[in-house]
Amino acid sequence: MIWNETAECRSREEMRRLQGERLRETVERVYHNTPFYRRKMQEMGLMPDDIETIDDIVKLPFTTKQDLRDNYPYGLFAVPMSEIIRLHASSGTTGNPTVVGYTRHDLSVWSEMIARCLSAYGATRDDIFHVAYGYGLFTGGLGLHYGVETLGGTVIPASSGNTLKQIQLLRDFGATAIACTPSYALFLGEAIAAAGVAMKDIKLRIGIFGAEPWTENMRREIEAKLGIKAYNIYGLSEIMGPGVSHECECQCGSHIIEDHFFAEIIDPDTLQQQPHGTTGELAFTTLTKEGLPLLRYRTKDLCSLDESPCACGRTTARMSRIIGRSDDMLIIRGVNVFPSQIESVILGVEECEPHYLLVVNRVNNLDTLEVQIEVREDFFSDELSKMLDLRKKIGHRIQSVLGIAADVKLVEPRSIPRSEGKAKRVIDNRKFE
Ligand code: ADP
Ligand code: ZN
Repeated sequence: MIWNETAECRSREEMRRLQGERLRETVERVYHNTPFYRRKMQEMGLMPDDIETIDDIVKLPFTTKQDLRDNYPYGLFAVPMSEIIRLHASSGTTGNPTVVGYTRHDLSVWSEMIARCLSAYGATRDDIFHVAYGYGLFTGGLGLHYGVETLGGTVIPASSGNTLKQIQLLRDFGATAIACTPSYALFLGEAIAAAGVAMKDIKLRIGIFGAEPWTENMRREIEAKLGIKAYNIYGLSEIMGPGVSHECECQCGSHIIEDHFFAEIIDPDTLQQQPHGTTGELAFTTLTKEGLPLLRYRTKDLCSLDESPCACGRTTARMSRIIGRSDDMLIIRGVNVFPSQIESVILGVEECEPHYLLVVNRVNNLDTLEVQIEVREDFFSDELSKMLDLRKKIGHRIQSVLGIAADVKLVEPRSIPRSEGKAKRVIDNRKFE
């Protein structure tokens, strides 16, 4: 089912014309309302009039997460705070989180986007949606929530955590669709079996999974375990939240909501725009955003784009699965983790050497994070209680910075392999290809 045929089935030429028009309006708006962009454009000798068609996008400056941090909290907002009716913030970052703001219009666009996604998955107003993404600053919970309401489906705002309760709700309320991270879906599949609940008592038929990378193998496993069709949903809070792209019944790439976001692939080193089909870093320009319009936002997500027609009838370009990152960000249990955050904790502990290794695994479908840290020679002690105290202290600090627990392992000085070039700080044993 197509929710908004006009928007989703335009000819490519018509789409590019609309994108060009909306880009011009966006550039005009940020030039006048966002000092950050005015300054950047002035430095480049660029005036809003220099942007005529969507092809002119390559003239515009890029935006990075660092720019958002430098302008914390509201510096990049393009409207007065009286127009902002909701804030969200990106998960798990040290110091300043990335704050995003929405006008009433932004929220209505977002809800409509999600309604489009849900329709593409074959969901209708007769479906009951169990939303197990976290509700709060994270965009997942509330994002999906209002999209379900726009579709006219029934929403169960379960939020995350307490798996036994989730299973009870799934069984008693008869949800037919579930939204959560793909790793939680796998975990839930096993937990349902372990709880002795028969699959015939679970009515799920559609899964809406995103917020972290996953694979075709995981899809097959989730579909088999939960007896559903599992669909990808992609998004990021800076651009809107979940729903920036979504799969359709063909499950062959995720359709981008192109009337609201322009996607391009760039080479992360040269920053040159790349032709469709090339794998590179995805950058988005918002075309209708009011609260936080962003030009060429570098997602750091690696993927490719495909403009060929899709069997579902939609003409919007599709993005491949995310195959990696052009920076060192890890997503652990749905939380964005930068190794530098852990490094800053370790550097602040005098008993430790600045040598560490992060080991990420997936055990029973849940991510685990082990942090191995070398202890200084003079502090390394045979006294167990001393070492346990130190371990606890570091564990608490990491938890408070990352928002997730880590298994801290104190190791002897010089036991972590040194590298000649760039230090290898992360071993990620999860497979995303
Ligand atoms: P969160 O609060 O979800 O962590 P962010 O907006 O900070 O939200 O995270 C967005 C990032 O999550 C994306 O840039 C991407 O790396 C990852 N992500 C989101 N959805 C998907 C998906 N479907 N597949 C792969 N990665 C995803
Ligand atoms: Zn399609």
